[in-house]
Amino acid sequence: MTKTKLIAGNWKMNGNLASNEALLRALLQGMGTPACAVTVCVPAPYLIQVQSLVAGSVLMLGAQDVSAHPQGAYTGEQSAEMLKDVGVRYVIVGHSERRQYHGETDDVVAAKTAAALAQGITPIVCVGETLAQHEAGQTDEVIKRQLAAVIQVNGHCIQEIAVAYEPVWAIGTGKTAMPAQAQAVHALLRAQLRHTAGQNADKVRILYGGSVNASNAAELLAQADIDGGLIGGASLKALDFLKIIAAAH
Ligand code: PEP
Repeated sequence: MTKTKLIAGNWKMNGNLASNEALLRALLQGMGTPACAVTVCVPAPYLIQVQSLVAGSVLMLGAQDVSAHPQGAYTGEQSAEMLKDVGVRYVIVGHSERRQYHGETDDVVAAKTAAALAQGITPIVCVGETLAQHEAGQTDEVIKRQLAAVIQVNGHCIQEIAVAYEPVWAIGTGKTAMPAQAQAVHALLRAQLRHTAGQNADKVRILYGGSVNASNAAELLAQADIDGGLIGGASLKALDFLKIIAAAH
């Protein structure tokens, strides 16, 4: 099935009012009408700023995390309803940095996915194996377990999610999975989605993430089951991000 690809920038904990504005102005000026969907997932304090800068453009607002809870005594968290209120369309869920540094379990990731879906925000659900798991040949087992937890809670509307396969050993390291290696994992994820959603699984965008840059993007994005990219470091450099966007058609 042909579907529009999705390029999602993950700014992580970077930026300030001035640099955000400069980056977005450069993106908006250079982007034209892309062949793919584009979102930038920005730090929470800048959601409102970025929303006002991208309003009326093709660039969509994204967030980096969402609470599993609808409201209440959860100091420091943002609910999906709040994110929707300020115009968020996509939210990264279960990024490996949140699993690693904030103890997010598969169950928490599944609950956050449900919270986003309930507000009509597309969760970009991250899965991926660590270097130790990769070297122990456990990649398939790990990613299947991570996705299964999300399917168990959200199976009825699983076609509404996006998935990002991000081998942890490739994030921010400059090491990228070989395109064929990434494609093999994406095909596995697709098969697992098909098991629950049948042909609707083909509607799910499965993004690849992990040191994607202006030079390697085209080959990765040409793989049959790679429907876009989750881009960290390169999304902070306008020219690099624009080249990745141009490669997604
Ligand atoms: C990410 O943060 O999800 C990511 C893939 O980072 P990088 O592109 O810098 O490896």
